[in-house]
Amino acid sequence: MKTIGILGGMSWESTQVYYQLLNRSVRAALGGLHSAKVNMVSVDFADIARLQHDGDWDATARLLSDYAAQLDAAGTQVGLIATNTMHKVYAPLCDAVSFPWVHIVDPTAAAIRAQGLSKVGLLGTAFTMAPGFYRERMREQGIEMVVPNEEDQQQVHRIIYQELCQGQIVERSRAIYQEVIQRLGDAGAQGTIAGCTEIGMLVSAAQAGMPWFDSTALHAQAAVDIALA
Ligand code: GLU
Repeated sequence: MKTIGILGGMSWESTQVYYQLLNRSVRAALGGLHSAKVNMVSVDFADIARLQHDGDWDATARLLSDYAAQLDAAGTQVGLIATNTMHKVYAPLCDAVSFPWVHIVDPTAAAIRAQGLSKVGLLGTAFTMAPGFYRERMREQGIEMVVPNEEDQQQVHRIIYQELCQGQIVERSRAIYQEVIQRLGDAGAQGTIAGCTEIGMLVSAAQAGMPWFDSTALHAQAAVDIALA
């Protein structure tokens, strides 16, 4: 079994979900007392969130590269950047380590294609929903994104930082997400991506009301598949 490295803490609320998913998946595959071999570094998310909102992505890349080097030194063989948003600095993080990262878009795109879909909604931070790194990598894999309108994007973003990343699950916010998902469907989305690693804490597949692609679960499973191959 290969050792999986988690670049976590963004936020720690979803990092603990990753940790649980990795271990449960390894146990399901190998049985008994088997569990995942995991290295983890967990950042202080306040530092990262401040730099994100200042638009200083180079500084986030430098900071995260130092943490990633710790994963490398600890013997990581396959890595997870446990946040969709910070895949914005995927390229410098690849340069910082000797192991391969699983890009969060790739297993998500594969799951969408496996269901024969090609046009899906995207929920995530404003940075993820904006034109750029996420939508482009999806397009390269034949998947078109439908994003919420401006007002809905602001709500989705606010709920991520002010509630989910702080461990708050608010009933009214779940209803807001469900309304946004419905509007994505009205705009032609055949399914929706939970493109932020905390969204699965708020909305389950059953509550989404359409095919639901939870990036956290798909990302974690992809790492286990590699670790056990
Ligand atoms: N975990 C979130 C994501 O998947 C948001 C936190 C962050 O900005 O890293 O994008």
